[in-house]
Amino acid sequence: MGKVVGIDLGTTNSVVAVMEGGKPVVIANSEGMRTTPSVVGFNKDGELVVGQMARRQAVLNPQNTYYGVKRFMGRKYPELTPESKQVPYTIRRDEYGSIKIKCPRLKKDFAPEEISAKILRKLAEEAERYLGEPVTGAVITVPAYFNDSQRQATRDAGRIAGLEVLRIINEPTAASLAYGLDQERSQKILVFDLGGGTFDVSVLEVGDGVFEVRATSGDTQLGGGDFDKRIVDWLAEQFLEQEKVDLRKDRQALQRLTEAAEKAKIELSGVSVTDINLPFITATEEGSKHIETRLMRPQFEDLCGDLVSRLTRPIKRALNDARLTPVQIDEVVLVGGGTRMPMIKALVRSFIDKEPNENVNPDEVVAVGAAIQSGILAGEVKEILLLDVTPLSLGLETIGGVTKKLIPRNTTIPVRRSDIFSTGENNQTMVEVHVVQGEREMSKDNKSLGRFKLTGIPPAPRGIPQVQVAFDIDANGILQVTARDRTTGREQSVVVQGASTLSEGEINRMINEAAEFAEEDRQRRERIEKRNKAKALTDQALRRLKDVTLDFGTQFTSGYRRQIEALNAEIMDSLDKDDERRLDRAQADLEDVLYELKREVRLQYEDEEDEGIFDSIRRTLVGDDEDDYPYTPRGSSYGNDYDTPRYPERSDYGQPRYDERRYDERQTYGSPPSRYERNDRYDDEYDEWDSGDRPSPRSRRPSPEPRRYPPKDSDSYYTRDRSRRIPKENQWDEEDDDWF
Ligand code: AMP
Repeated sequence: MGKVVGIDLGTTNSVVAVMEGGKPVVIANSEGMRTTPSVVGFNKDGELVVGQMARRQAVLNPQNTYYGVKRFMGRKYPELTPESKQVPYTIRRDEYGSIKIKCPRLKKDFAPEEISAKILRKLAEEAERYLGEPVTGAVITVPAYFNDSQRQATRDAGRIAGLEVLRIINEPTAASLAYGLDQERSQKILVFDLGGGTFDVSVLEVGDGVFEVRATSGDTQLGGGDFDKRIVDWLAEQFLEQEKVDLRKDRQALQRLTEAAEKAKIELSGVSVTDINLPFITATEEGSKHIETRLMRPQFEDLCGDLVSRLTRPIKRALNDARLTPVQIDEVVLVGGGTRMPMIKALVRSFIDKEPNENVNPDEVVAVGAAIQSGILAGEVKEILLLDVTPLSLGLETIGGVTKKLIPRNTTIPVRRSDIFSTGENNQTMVEVHVVQGEREMSKDNKSLGRFKLTGIPPAPRGIPQVQVAFDIDANGILQVTARDRTTGREQSVVVQGASTLSEGEINRMINEAAEFAEEDRQRRERIEKRNKAKALTDQALRRLKDVTLDFGTQFTSGYRRQIEALNAEIMDSLDKDDERRLDRAQADLEDVLYELKREVRLQYEDEEDEGIFDSIRRTLVGDDEDDYPYTPRGSSYGNDYDTPRYPERSDYGQPRYDERRYDERQTYGSPPSRYERNDRYDDEYDEWDSGDRPSPRSRRPSPEPRRYPPKDSDSYYTRDRSRRIPKENQWDEEDDDWF
């Protein structure tokens, strides 16, 4: 079995962490960041991009770039508020009322689970790269307030990404798990988590290695993005008034406004005033239009007054449910980037009258907790027992559409509760069990999780049959409902699949598609890398040629030049024509030539070293005389601060001391050229050195026999035995610029 990681699948950013040597470690992505934007896109070539790369293309390619998809997870289209539908990409309702995300570039639609799966896949791959072993499982966090279908959707996303989701845990639980790892004293913690798209508040009791969530509350439709939106609206309204153009209707402008708004918001957490500049935001008949304005922190706080008030309700509810008063709270832990806003800290302070704990990095703490949970599951972490709760009440619809709660919210899970029900009509032989989730009295006002029927009840007067309905919630918060006729023993049981917006068939199709896609992606990436490597090789060959020409003269390199130029042309042509076999051959040949050149230069040095011994003997006998030794390094004697070695010496790090930059500096500052340079003429236009008719001492060694290239009419050159190729350690390595 491979490794299990902890993943914080956030609305805005995601983080992956793993237990290593009993300690949680946050894994940086290949872009070097510890958080990965939860953004997925398809670039102009239809290639998948995830994270920072996707985020970067959002302005130019908003229709094919998806962010904030977590808000759509496990939700039906009619459940969305008009506000949440306002995104720069297109979402639509499918025939089952589920949400589908349009991808014009690929001409297909994605389920939110598929988009989230791509983020999970990237994080798993980053972890694999870091660990050097496969990642097969994950503990994924969700907002505490996520209902069953949202949890199920998250689990489905994990499966589509090829991961076994071992546990779904609440984000604040994870946060306190990370926070409380070293805590011995029992304490009551309030976790206040304001992320990009969701808000959670939880009250936990932590102590003696036991984490018990006493209460959770929150708002799945409130997060940092809403604060950005206030700034977007403020900017757009001003612009509308002045220019009579609503920028929110222009996808690209909206994207730019959103990015600028987030930037301004983040800046206002540190400073009290920020400038917002958006040149060329649109064009009217009068010409280009720009936004240039200034936002003060109090103004921003005014714009968000109602959002801040909305945050207070769930805090009160969580405290009430936990039967605690604010003074009984020992610690307040802030989670999520949104908690960095001064107005949020002030709100928390005013409520709990305690300085919030900021020891924990709010961006990473959730993933760290998820990794610890994976350690608990793997038996790596032994001293901790995690008790979680159901975020919402679960019940079933009874006569008149009234909800009968079987499991009240904030019940510690896993849990099993059952009750006896009877028929409402005489001779009723079938009962329908309608499972609902929520706090409202009438079932229609709660979230419907699914229905199933128990048939074959013997006819009897109403109220006589006894049907036992049991609700089982496992440690992941996944519900199984069983109905049993106590007379006949007939039983019907379902894992509430209605909770998932995707059918099993759809999930399987997506799993397969994702696997296919992964292979396609890998091939595409390899092709791109190969092309880049080939291009880089041609550039480096030219650079190397130039360096060697500088040091040894054109005559020395003329044979190599011909070969390198021909091979470079061959590579470029193969790239144009997408001919991989030809590309491979030309690249291998170019590597050969460069190796040959390297070998030749090394030999030259060896000769020089031999000569050097005689030189020093001669100098000891007759003293220095430059004219006699026109190519002896005397650069410093020209009064500038660089040496122009006759034969470039190696520095400690293996680079030739003489490099292009230094040459350019000499040109710029007009220092007198060395003898060596005087004879050389640098022709910028042709990017080549011409040593004129200076007899180069290096010409003692004859230029290599120019290889016939490309051998247009012969295959023999290509088909020669590759096993005779240069040994691996001597092969040209793109990274290895170290030639001498
Ligand atoms: P999270 O989901 O925890 O990564 O939080 C992301 C949200 O935090 C986004 O809405 C960010 O704009 C917001 N955020 C990050 N840093 C700051 C900051 N310094 N001030 C205000 N909001 C921030």
